[in-house]
Amino acid sequence: MLRDLLIDKKLFENIREKVSKDGNELVKRESLEKSVFKKLKKKRSLKRFKRKGIKKSDLKEIIELADIASLELFGGPSDYQIINEHPQWCTHCGTCCRESTPIFIHKDEITPILTFKSDLKDEIAKNRDYPQHFMFKEDLPCKFHNFEEKRCKIYDVRPQVCRTYPLVLVGDKDKSSYVIDLRHKCDYSIHLVLEKSMILFDEAIKRLETGS
Ligand code: SF4
Ligand code: SF4
Repeated sequence: MLRDLLIDKKLFENIREKVSKDGNELVKRESLEKSVFKKLKKKRSLKRFKRKGIKKSDLKEIIELADIASLELFGGPSDYQIINEHPQWCTHCGTCCRESTPIFIHKDEITPILTFKSDLKDEIAKNRDYPQHFMFKEDLPCKFHNFEEKRCKIYDVRPQVCRTYPLVLVGDKDKSSYVIDLRHKCDYSIHLVLEKSMILFDEAIKRLETGS
């Protein structure tokens, strides 16, 4: 009910269809949404909003919207802007550096990487999907991940894909279209979806109160 004040049902269904993935991705998304729900209940207590008719299902629907849609749809900031402003959300668990493959390097990133350290040319190969671009030869885990210090050994020149994680570009099977997807196995994502959920919840309550 609350979500309907923010977005047309049909538009929401269209977005959900576009981002729906295989079973594994769905399980990860549900697990992230459960974690966000536990936190959102503390931030926006159901007790406080009970007299307005707000139920558990309303919080869950708002979280689902926050998970799959950018706030840009409502005139707010992009996911990228939000994560950029909150580097403290990264717990430095290293999952992204251990489990990402291939690690995409745009052709324009080669010069800064090799200027930093020319030896790195031996660690770079042509990208198997996009031959005009590149990738690191060794990943799963990435060769540059320092496990003890939980740091990137080439942090200053790490590729753009590492800077924007947990946001990644995902293509169709035939690579005809791409969507920005959120990696759900990342604590950063929980904070991002929680932040967006709070913003969307407050906006929906405002619309409920003003009848707009
Ligand atoms: S971006 Fe996510 S997966 Fe990567 S280190 Fe930070 S919290 Fe872990
Ligand atoms: S280049 Fe650095 S940030 Fe990117 S995956 Fe490797 S260790 Fe992680």
